[in-house]
Amino acid sequence: MDEERAKRIELQEEQRALSLQLVASQQQELNRRAELNIISDELENSRKKHAREIADLEFDLQKKDRLLREANEDLRACRNDLEQERETVSSLKSALNAQSNAHLTLTAENRSFQTQFTALQAQYDELLRTNANLILDLEAERQEKIEMRKEATENEAVRRKLHNMVQELKGNIRVFCRVRPVLPSDIPPSSGYQPTNSPNPSPHEELELIRQELKADISFPDRRDHREINIWSSSESATGQERKESYQFMFDKVFEPECTQAEVFEEISMLAQSCVDGYNVCIFAYGQTGSGKSFTMEGGASNATKGMIPRAVDQVFRVAEDLRSKGWEYQMEGQFLEIYNEAINDLLGKHEFDKKKHEIKHDPKSGSTRVTDLTVIPLSSPTQVRALLSSAQSRRSVAATLMNERSSRSHSVFTLRITGTNAATGESCEGCLNLVDLAGSERINVSFGNGFGTAGSNDKERLKETQSINRSLSALGDVIAALGEKSERGDKHIPYRNSKLTYLLQNSLSGNSKTLMVLNLSPLASHLNESLTSLRFATKVNNTTLGTAKKQSR
Ligand code: ADP
Ligand code: MG
Repeated sequence: MDEERAKRIELQEEQRALSLQLVASQQQELNRRAELNIISDELENSRKKHAREIADLEFDLQKKDRLLREANEDLRACRNDLEQERETVSSLKSALNAQSNAHLTLTAENRSFQTQFTALQAQYDELLRTNANLILDLEAERQEKIEMRKEATENEAVRRKLHNMVQELKGNIRVFCRVRPVLPSDIPPSSGYQPTNSPNPSPHEELELIRQELKADISFPDRRDHREINIWSSSESATGQERKESYQFMFDKVFEPECTQAEVFEEISMLAQSCVDGYNVCIFAYGQTGSGKSFTMEGGASNATKGMIPRAVDQVFRVAEDLRSKGWEYQMEGQFLEIYNEAINDLLGKHEFDKKKHEIKHDPKSGSTRVTDLTVIPLSSPTQVRALLSSAQSRRSVAATLMNERSSRSHSVFTLRITGTNAATGESCEGCLNLVDLAGSERINVSFGNGFGTAGSNDKERLKETQSINRSLSALGDVIAALGEKSERGDKHIPYRNSKLTYLLQNSLSGNSKTLMVLNLSPLASHLNESLTSLRFATKVNNTTLGTAKKQSR
């Protein structure tokens, strides 16, 4: 038991110690806790203080963060911009390179242009000098031209005078004689001759032989001037012997059968010139039907065969054109009429037959002649004249078929009237070219024998026709003869009024007019008597030329 007590006491002692220890540790604990509380307060204070600071810092941070973000954004934008700028710079650089190359090339080019320019400048200066010289030359030439034009105008006046003098010396009334060739149509079928278009044509020699047989004995002895024609006619004498008679005629020109239209016109062309100079010209084709009057006057369609009318018209237009450079302006008009049984028919009228009654009016003041109600066409070109002639021709052929060869029983008169003015000299002139295809000159009995009329009612008509032809042809011969005598003896009555034809042509035959008669002859022996009659008529006309020839000696 003691031990238990001792242990108890020990345990109690230990318990007391422990309690003391516990109280100490509790005290410690309390101290620590107080300390902790203080620390905790301090901590709390510090925490509070720091929380504010942290909040401030956080706010700051957020702000900075935002700023940073913004700065980043800006930076990115700047980078992009930079990138773009870089690209721009690079492209600018390459552009600059290219420009620089171009600049180099341009500089090189510029240099070469500069060289060229210098050369051109030198050339230009040279040209300027040449130009100045040329202007001087031109001025000199202009002066010369003015002088020459003046001279030409003066020369033109002199030429007109001389031309007229030459024409007058040749005689204001002239007669040509033209013998046509023997034609295939002259060969009678009874001769046995086969023309070239038949299946068995006769040889050329045979044709020549037949031609010789048909031909009258005509010769042309004057080989130099071609002015003579001789005809031999044989007849039987009372004693039955063959008698040969020779007839010699002389004209201003004789054209042999081989002569071309151009050769005939060569002799006439001067008259066309006269007419442009303001003179009146009449050209007549005289001869029996079939002797070549229409061929001479109108001719064929080709250039070689065209007749005196188209040639004269061409010539008149050509001369008028030439004279334009000398200040002359011309106006032309044409008319074409027919005189049948002493009545005038308009060949240019619109209707097939001319039913109008035409009158001839002379104006004594101007010396011009007009036919009332007649178609007068202003003419501006030779082709127009040709068209006009062919339309007249077709009208005549209609009349011819309906009225039995009327064209050879009427006189046709083509008139080209030319009016010229010269503004430079103040001159003016009016000329008239009359081209007359006369009616056939065959005598009345021949006319019947030639088949122009048939017996019966036509005879009266035919007789009237033939009488008026004879009357007008002899009136023409009388007028021309009287004109010739007039120039020899001064004033004399001229019987213009004896026929429509001479009355119509009064102004163109009188005064300072020029008249040409082309006597057309058939070469045939069967027409010999008719040819002799024609030759005698023409000789009567021709002798009158002596009148004007006398002027030469004055
Ligand atoms: P006219 O008018 O005198 O009655 P033409 O002129 O009608 O005569 O001529 C009769 C024929 O003779 C026509 O066929 C014509 O072609 C022809 N003739 C006339 N003269 C010649 C000539 N010099 N050359 C060729 N043929 C001609
Ligand atoms: Mg005829």
